[in-house]
Amino acid sequence: MNQLTNTQTRDVEALLHPYTNARQVRLDGAHVIERGEGVRVFDQAGKGYIEGMAGLWCCGLGFGDAEVADAAREQYGKLPYYHLFGGRSHEPAIELAEKIKDLAPDMARVIYQSSGSEANDTQIKLVWYMNNALGRPEKKKIISRKKAYHGVTIVSASLTGLPYNHRDFDLPVDGIKHTSTPHFWREGKPGETEAEFAKRMAEDLEALIIAEGPETVAAFIAEPVMGAGGVIIPPAGYFPAIAAVCKKYDVHMIADEVITGFGRTGEWFGSDTLEMPRNSMSLAKQLTAGYAPLSAVAMDSRMAEAIESNSGTIGTFGHGFTYGGHPVSCAVGAKVLDIYRERDIVGQVKKIAPLFATKLNAYKDHPLVGEVRALGLVGALELTPDGTATPFEQPGKVGAKLGTELLARGVILRSIGDSMAFCPPMIITEAEIEEMFAPMEEALDATYAWGK
Ligand code: PLP
Repeated sequence: MNQLTNTQTRDVEALLHPYTNARQVRLDGAHVIERGEGVRVFDQAGKGYIEGMAGLWCCGLGFGDAEVADAAREQYGKLPYYHLFGGRSHEPAIELAEKIKDLAPDMARVIYQSSGSEANDTQIKLVWYMNNALGRPEKKKIISRKKAYHGVTIVSASLTGLPYNHRDFDLPVDGIKHTSTPHFWREGKPGETEAEFAKRMAEDLEALIIAEGPETVAAFIAEPVMGAGGVIIPPAGYFPAIAAVCKKYDVHMIADEVITGFGRTGEWFGSDTLEMPRNSMSLAKQLTAGYAPLSAVAMDSRMAEAIESNSGTIGTFGHGFTYGGHPVSCAVGAKVLDIYRERDIVGQVKKIAPLFATKLNAYKDHPLVGEVRALGLVGALELTPDGTATPFEQPGKVGAKLGTELLARGVILRSIGDSMAFCPPMIITEAEIEEMFAPMEEALDATYAWGK
């Protein structure tokens, strides 16, 4: 038990922390962050850290970008709040939607929310509404994947395929099914090639659709790269094979681009990099570089037209959030997308990605490292007891220990079970990549020694 500072005492008396062991934080005290600059944040004691996770995978432009702050300030001065209900509108919402459509020309309309969870909740409501409009009210089930992360509202948490998001929350709700995780290293059979594995994943999906009844299956949702499930990158051929099955049974494909959107994988969208066809997209996090809460669902013309036509028949389209499309968030988003273009953020990710991958791969032969994963500027080191795919008997402890060792050495990363995830701000330089990895060997060795 630590001696808590005054702020830490106030913290535990006033806050319930999300995604935190509520009893443990009372003993250890919260880590209070005070300010940020570039790829670094500084805590109350004045200690600086490289933020290797861009906050929660969101601060693509790092911390303290003055241009973004100015855009927010300007919008606060002009119109600090307005909504889009009842046919009202405002320029920042329109401008940002146009910019999203420029980057994803297959999308016809955009509707806003404030969080990734709300975006995915909205996706499911739109799919249901669309299928009622198309005269197929029985086509409502949604297929997600084990280890997926789609958020924490009741439906989004149900789409999420992680046990701790379901356990004791009485989830998932009915009508949401989970198919296999495309993690070749862990789930591949002996002697199976990546191509055979991708085909088997598609066969699993098809078997599930047939078992449920294709006339009842409405949509398939996937993150192009699974993030909070441990940064799992599917093998080449996976999404094309999955898409063929979805097409066969007229299953709407939802790309959850909340982490992978806006350059992270080295293309504008992860679905571009991983050849995932999409009928609609969930966008958040790097949409505003984390500087303001905002999410969006972008949808293709079939969905947009079905919704417009149904609303034209039945009246008001009864969905929307008070803060969805907040003018300050939209102005921030529009500025952020301009900056991504002006500073060629996609080119920057492509340029830094090889060094990032080389740095990660340097630990491939460390006795604690089972698998190294990297794509663009997102990656993971998965720790195992003996370098094989066999997991630790007590999952999560060794990963957490590595996180603590790195924190002590000035690097913030996030352990997901025993995978150490990396998702640095996309503005990170080569020198800062070197700095982020500098304490890694020592931290891995200390963790290994502790576990023996
Ligand atoms: N979808 C994905 C892929 C995510 O990674 C997240 C959050 O990490 C969400 C949805 C949920 O977003 P939020 O936490 O803003 O509700």
